[in-house]
Amino acid sequence: MTEFLDLETQDAVRMPWNVLPGTKQEAAQCVIPISAIYTPIKPLPNTTPLLPYSPLRCRNCRSVLNPFSIVDFSTKIWICSFCLHRNHFPHHYQSISDDNLPAELFPQYTTIEYEPQNERPTSQAIPQVFFFVVDTCMIEEEIGFLRSGLSRVIGEIPENSLVGLITFGRYVCVHELGFFGRVPKVYVFNGAKEITKDQVLEQMGFFLKKPRPATGVVAGVRDGLSQESISRFLLPAADCEFALNSVLDELQKDPWPVPADQRAPRSTGTALTIAAHLLGVCVPGSGARIMAFLGGPATEGPGSIVSKALSEPIRSHKDLDKDAAPFFNKAVKLYEGLAKQLVHQGHVLDVFACALDQVGVAELKVAVEKTGGLVVLAESFGHSVFKDSLLRVFQSGDNDLGLSSNGIFEVNFSKDIKIQGVLGPCASLEKKGALCSDTSVGQGGTTAWKMCGLDKSTSLCLIFDIVKKENSDVISQAANNQFYFQFLTYYQHSNGQMRLRATTLSRRWVTGPGNVQDLIAGFDQEAAAVVMGRLVSFKMETEAEFDPIRWLDKSLIHLCSRFGDYQKDSPSSFVLSPRLSIIPQFVFNLRRSQFVQVFNNSPDETAYFRMVMNRENVANSVVMIQPSLISYAFNSGAEPALLDVASIAADRILLLDSYFTVVVFHGSTIAQWRKAGYQNEPEHKVFAQLLQAPLDDAEAIHGSQARFLLAKLNPSATYNSDAPTPGGDILFTDDVSFEIFSDHLQRLAVQ
Ligand SMILES: [Zn+2]
Repeated sequence: MTEFLDLETQDAVRMPWNVLPGTKQEAAQCVIPISAIYTPIKPLPNTTPLLPYSPLRCRNCRSVLNPFSIVDFSTKIWICSFCLHRNHFPHHYQSISDDNLPAELFPQYTTIEYEPQNERPTSQAIPQVFFFVVDTCMIEEEIGFLRSGLSRVIGEIPENSLVGLITFGRYVCVHELGFFGRVPKVYVFNGAKEITKDQVLEQMGFFLKKPRPATGVVAGVRDGLSQESISRFLLPAADCEFALNSVLDELQKDPWPVPADQRAPRSTGTALTIAAHLLGVCVPGSGARIMAFLGGPATEGPGSIVSKALSEPIRSHKDLDKDAAPFFNKAVKLYEGLAKQLVHQGHVLDVFACALDQVGVAELKVAVEKTGGLVVLAESFGHSVFKDSLLRVFQSGDNDLGLSSNGIFEVNFSKDIKIQGVLGPCASLEKKGALCSDTSVGQGGTTAWKMCGLDKSTSLCLIFDIVKKENSDVISQAANNQFYFQFLTYYQHSNGQMRLRATTLSRRWVTGPGNVQDLIAGFDQEAAAVVMGRLVSFKMETEAEFDPIRWLDKSLIHLCSRFGDYQKDSPSSFVLSPRLSIIPQFVFNLRRSQFVQVFNNSPDETAYFRMVMNRENVANSVVMIQPSLISYAFNSGAEPALLDVASIAADRILLLDSYFTVVVFHGSTIAQWRKAGYQNEPEHKVFAQLLQAPLDDAEAIHGSQARFLLAKLNPSATYNSDAPTPGGDILFTDDVSFEIFSDHLQRLAVQ
């Protein structure tokens, strides 16, 4: 296990198979796909230099010079590890030798970053843009919470960042923040209508003072827009703090009258469309985030998810299954279009959905995910999950999320490997080529992806294909049984500079009947569980009639019968190597998780859970699949406990971390003592300490820098065996059910 964590520290990558099957047939027998979870801009170890120049590239395949390239110092030639092309070093590399290596050839710098200095001086670094889109169809109390949440972050926005504001209800209001002493002006759009980019240009008076260019696209200052007309809506934070705060202070509930039997008219789709058009007109190509604050379901105009009549319920998973959600497909289509537009412009959509009702996260998912946006779901804008997560976005220093923009992710491999696609927050750039597999998964059919928004923990899941057939000339290859992978990420660092991160990996491949032990030795079961989690979620969303339980069970049985140790037809002889010993538990818990048992949740919640898992790293995703449980008792201190009812005891405290929620359960005796106030009496100091320890640990998880999302924290649930705790029944199993599952597995695996 630790060696996989070491690999992750060095290269930000986790692979289920770290020794690879050498042929297509053998890869198919591995059941879990050849794949990698890669975190493109995970912070590098402090010792890694940032190179102030551009990388050397292979003239043939464009891959980047790396420690695996073969260098001939006498002739000053390097051989590309991917296409074997012989490249000459340029003039400024002439002094290199065995003991005078450039950093990119050091064996330990398989991951390294370039920040060429000449391209753009720091003073001209492009500022980030934050465009707030604020729902006003809420009760006054919620508006108050949202107002205070926003005011709190306004002071945290970097001074040179540009800020804009739209508020909406029945109508969509674009606020002029740069009114320079004049009366503040608001541009109002009818939320029920579809608005085009031309209408935005027209109505907002971008060409008041001069004629509009007759032809061509209008986008940004270069295409004829004046800086003055742009800075009416997008202003440096330092210049508009006052204006922004005064608009927020005046923020009121949407005045449109709402009959008692109706939902408020909320034109979410139109508001987001206008925001996208405005950014496309004013700042195309530079890093910008639309941050949408939604307090209820979209009911007006394009993007509606439900009618206004309260008698009609919001779509459920059952409705979606039966194709009985009349608004769903139309809304998804709108947001697919919006996603395409935002990806083209290089802009991000973040959604903060805070309501008891669903707001339409399931429909919005495509636009958030393809642009690499953040998503937060909570019941109220007053909830700490919302307030603290929002604040995290703007924190700097050690707590910095490392929000970056305008990323492009590219891959290169040895010729026997192809890419099927990527599951995660990105959009295909449709760059087809020899490295693309015939089959496509997620964002596939390409070797390049756009990542409009990415941060330190954004993690992509790459699914590969081994294409070498059996009987091909294995012997000639055997001289070098390594597969090479290169991941290149260009992005605008939060400091405004463009950077290139290059990660080059080498993995040994094996082939033939004697290879099973080698494959097992390289198996990372946590990475495998997370790949299965992303894959099963993707299949559930895209394949009609897909049966996730059957698929997971079949996969696990095949995996165990291929890699387990047993005598045929003898279940009791079945043994799994420690390398695979936890995978049955992971699959057992994945089957019962919110990613698979969707009927326990709303479509918005399912979309939310999946979006979070689809962007998180392996460690955080494992906790989502199989929550961690820590037990506290008088004589044993804190220790990990099994996730089953046997762990519950009257005199114990349990701390459950499922990533989305963190709960401290008090056993019944503990709860009684606590109620009686023993912890306040000096002679029960030990009890007070016992009560405090899980709270401290819960607080540490809650405030963890390794997570963007703040968990829902319930610091004092009482576990009572008569009345199960909410959510407890899905998280806690009883010993028996896993035992039965495990018995079945052994019986089927040995057949
Ligand atoms: Zn090459």
